[in-house]
Amino acid sequence: MTMSKQHFDLVVVGGGQAGCAAALSGARGGMSVLLVEAAGSLGGAAVNGLVTPFRPFTTKVTENGEEKTLALSQGIFTELFDAYKADGFYGKQRDTRAINAESMKLILDRKMREAGVRVLFHATLCGAAREGRLVRSVSVATIGGILEFEADTFIDATGDATLSAFAGVEFRLGRPADSLCQPMTLCFRLFNIDKEALWKARGEIQALYKTFQDEGKIKNPRDNVLMFDTRLPGVVHFNTTRIVKHDPTDPFAVSEAEALAREQALEMFRFLKENFDCCRNAEMMATAPSIGVRESRMIEARHVLTRDEIVAGTHFPDGIAAGNYDIDIHSPDGGGTSHYYFPPGVYYTIPYRSLLPREFDNLVVAGRCIGATHEAQASIRIMPICVCTGEAAGAAAALAKESNVAVADVDATLLRARLRAGGAFVG
Ligand SMILES: Cc1cc2nc3c(=O)[nH]c(=O)nc-3n(C[C@H](O)[C@H](O)[C@H](O)COP(=O)(O)OP(=O)(O)OC[C@H]3O[C@@H](n4cnc5c(N)ncnc54)[C@H](O)[C@@H]3O)c2cc1C
Repeated sequence: MTMSKQHFDLVVVGGGQAGCAAALSGARGGMSVLLVEAAGSLGGAAVNGLVTPFRPFTTKVTENGEEKTLALSQGIFTELFDAYKADGFYGKQRDTRAINAESMKLILDRKMREAGVRVLFHATLCGAAREGRLVRSVSVATIGGILEFEADTFIDATGDATLSAFAGVEFRLGRPADSLCQPMTLCFRLFNIDKEALWKARGEIQALYKTFQDEGKIKNPRDNVLMFDTRLPGVVHFNTTRIVKHDPTDPFAVSEAEALAREQALEMFRFLKENFDCCRNAEMMATAPSIGVRESRMIEARHVLTRDEIVAGTHFPDGIAAGNYDIDIHSPDGGGTSHYYFPPGVYYTIPYRSLLPREFDNLVVAGRCIGATHEAQASIRIMPICVCTGEAAGAAAALAKESNVAVADVDATLLRARLRAGGAFVG
């Protein structure tokens, strides 16, 4: 059942970190905005993948002989981050970078309502109609049938560049040699753990894990146990399952990954419960609703951001967001994780052109699927930066409407000025 087409100034597909910021900045810029989200809540990986915490987003700079901390992600990120820290729904957070997913859902609902964004939950993008260099409409599968929406500008914030791929945008996948992406991880939480004893036993846990892995008793290829404290008594968060060599854009591979990762979660639960006193009474609290995808499609943008550019701390004339998170690559085919850490004071910016597919004039991409190489994406994929590219995409759409030009043609100098005026940091 297909219903008649509705028109919005801006349609944003994907209500994760990037999509929420894009919708907010577009609506605040005077646009009618529809936000389409496949899940039943906003927040993306932080909510549906139980991903936590926000990765670091500051650097040290010296000004007038004085050392200062510079936040590289500001604007809407600061507004939301402050709201998450201050939230009164479920108590104050102890670790200010940790995410309380339940608070995030409510805060984002309220922000969208206040800004007048129309949110459509349980709505999965299933097609895009193209006419020359324009996306004309998108099709969205809902309980009420397939709905079609037209817009002057579309923002692809699906994380997987799904709207772009459906419209015919070229993309890259994984590392150049074999197209393998960073592994997928299903986060999970255990409760009833004696946390004090667990942190003391950390060394023992890692050593026994390695022994069991060498003996073939642990199948998970990850080389260590990655666990984080939570603000809840007895609850520990695990980001330690690792599904390698599964294409995150192949629906069958993703389905298999979900099931395999649940087996790895059970394996870890049993390993801890059977071998460590601190976990003897542990129970499984939850596995995330969805497996987490670190990397999938990345668009062939007008500018593809590279490792060399970010390591050099390049500041682009059309920079719309900034970052210095390490190039953090979880091995696509095995156990290790490689890092390149930026020295203090060094950061790069992300050019507006990296958000623009080459083949389209009214489509902008935000979040982890912008135009970047495998290595550069390993740094720009963190949530604070995704919020900032989302804000920039929404601001560009609003500027396009005001200037009566296609979003791909907005003046980057004006865009940067607009972002700065809204409190964003663009380098
Ligand atoms: C295991 C793991 C651990 C991580 N750890 C951290 C960390 O500690 N700190 C950090 O800052 N970052 C971390 N990251 C990275 C970070 O979570 C993501 O890169 C970031 O959330 C991406 O934001 P996004 O808005 O681009 O995409 P997402 O947050 O994935 O949002 C995309 C949204 O689009 C929706 N969507 C997708 N397809 C469709 C469709 N067809 N129709 C409608 N809606 C659709 C999805 O439901 C989702 O809500 C981690 C990632 C993973 C996987």
